[in-house]
Amino acid sequence: MYRSHSCGELNASAINKEVTLSGWVQKIRDKGFMIWVDLRDRYGITQLIFDEQRTPKEVMEKAKTLGREFVIQVTGNVIERESKNPAMPTGDIEIVAQDITILNEALVPPFTIEDETDGGEDIRMKYRYLDIRRNPVKNSLMFRHQVGMKVRNYLSEQGFIEVETPYLIKSTPEGARDFLVPSRMNEGQFYALPQSPQTFKQLLMVGGMDKYFQIVKCFRDEDLRADRQPEFTQIDCEMAFVEQEDILQIFEGLTKHLLQDIKGVSVDTFPRMTYDEAMRTYGNDKPDIRFGMKFGELNGVAQHKEFKVFNTAELVVGIAVPGAASFTRKEIDKLIDWVKRPQVGALGMVYVKCNEDGTYKSSVDKFYDQEDLAKWAAATGAQPGDLICVLSGPTNKTRAQLSALRMELAERLELRNPEEFAPLWVVDFPLLEWDEDTARFHAMHHPFTSPKPEDIPLLDTDPGAVRANAYDLVLNGNEIGGGSIRIHDKETQALMFKHLGFTPEEAKEQFGFLLDAFQYGAPPHGGIAFGFDRLVSILGGQETIRDFIAFPKNNSGRDVMIDAPATIDAAQLKEIHIQLDV
Ligand code: ASP
Repeated sequence: MYRSHSCGELNASAINKEVTLSGWVQKIRDKGFMIWVDLRDRYGITQLIFDEQRTPKEVMEKAKTLGREFVIQVTGNVIERESKNPAMPTGDIEIVAQDITILNEALVPPFTIEDETDGGEDIRMKYRYLDIRRNPVKNSLMFRHQVGMKVRNYLSEQGFIEVETPYLIKSTPEGARDFLVPSRMNEGQFYALPQSPQTFKQLLMVGGMDKYFQIVKCFRDEDLRADRQPEFTQIDCEMAFVEQEDILQIFEGLTKHLLQDIKGVSVDTFPRMTYDEAMRTYGNDKPDIRFGMKFGELNGVAQHKEFKVFNTAELVVGIAVPGAASFTRKEIDKLIDWVKRPQVGALGMVYVKCNEDGTYKSSVDKFYDQEDLAKWAAATGAQPGDLICVLSGPTNKTRAQLSALRMELAERLELRNPEEFAPLWVVDFPLLEWDEDTARFHAMHHPFTSPKPEDIPLLDTDPGAVRANAYDLVLNGNEIGGGSIRIHDKETQALMFKHLGFTPEEAKEQFGFLLDAFQYGAPPHGGIAFGFDRLVSILGGQETIRDFIAFPKNNSGRDVMIDAPATIDAAQLKEIHIQLDV
């Protein structure tokens, strides 16, 4: 037996017992006649003492050879500690060593295995297994496990069945590139790794599984944006015989359950907002509604004077920043520089200080009088003491810029409290999205999403205006889930493929299996998928999903620990029928 107890469980009730512990050497204090060792395992830390008076000589000798992170097994007696440490669960006791086995030696770790380590991100990722010994990482992984268990239990209780779907498949379009796997046995042919199990979960509905879920890896070969992983985990779900309302109810239930159980936060009904409204009032389809600063459109009250910038703009729109009338000229200039950064891309910013005495002072006083500015204040909901920031230009661009400014200001004014949770359903997404590069429409969600029946006639006349039975669940400005009611008949699916620019042959080639399945009694169905990594990181109150992934990739999609991706040798390439030009 390597151990009788863990390093986290012994307390005063164990005094006088003989115990055996195994673990890593966290810390050594050597006074010569007395050596204290902190022994660590996943469960905690227990203090050992090696004492000339009470520990056999050869054991004492061995203890002198210990180094940090050595793996040892120690047998000894539990005694009451003289100077107790109330901050530690094992702080009332210590163990007088009687025997020691060095199970393995260790090199000096390249960074300290402490909560506050001296190791930077790169080195910690290279030695991730050492990083995982640290409490913050270990606790995050344990937290992830707990959230996963709660999800599994909840869904299972609701009658969902977890079914595994294959990883070696054929392209399932979710808007990213596929990772491809060459087939050795089928020369010149490739599998694609799933961007999601979308088509399979729909086939499970045709198969009568009724309620499916899976906590599953998905793979998307995207240009990596901050805090994205090329492989990530979804809670993927699908249900048969449901309408949008059924899905929203069930998964609002799941989210409420998690918030209550994990954060002790009870949220009433989740608010709902249409995509159009989200874009109009927050310039964003995943608004953070923990704070205000709603957009006020100002075309009606700003385009009647001689100010050309506004008069020629498609949209003039502002937000009232709470309490920011006190910003100095310098601070405002900095803000203007911020919106002009290429990442944001505004050409400038007009501002209005709403003075405490009810008067206004703006950067465009030359054009607008107090009466005009009072109307701007009304439209943006500005109070005395607020600062109105106004941007103008093409509608979509300007909304995106003001949305970025709103988030930036919320960050600076500390309005994004990680312990506050504001979920929101965004519904009625457009079915199609115009893509400038390819000059055609793409499915905004994916090609299996059903249009709202009443909008189908618009497919031929105004495709961009067709709304989908599609919804996102947004939490604190993050899209944590998204899904739709699916098309379940061959005709509508064929119509959709046609509008996405697939010829019938191409559609048959790629998705013939699905169109075929729809001819064998496909039930009406729909579903949703949650981004599990993101959900866990929000519930865990951390910024990045990397913190909750055992072995994440870096921003260039590399695993720096195992050094992947890597080249492969010629023989292996030949086997998979791939020739590289050298
Ligand atoms: N497969 C979709 C996604 O990965 C989710 C869904 O429609 O259920 O976003």
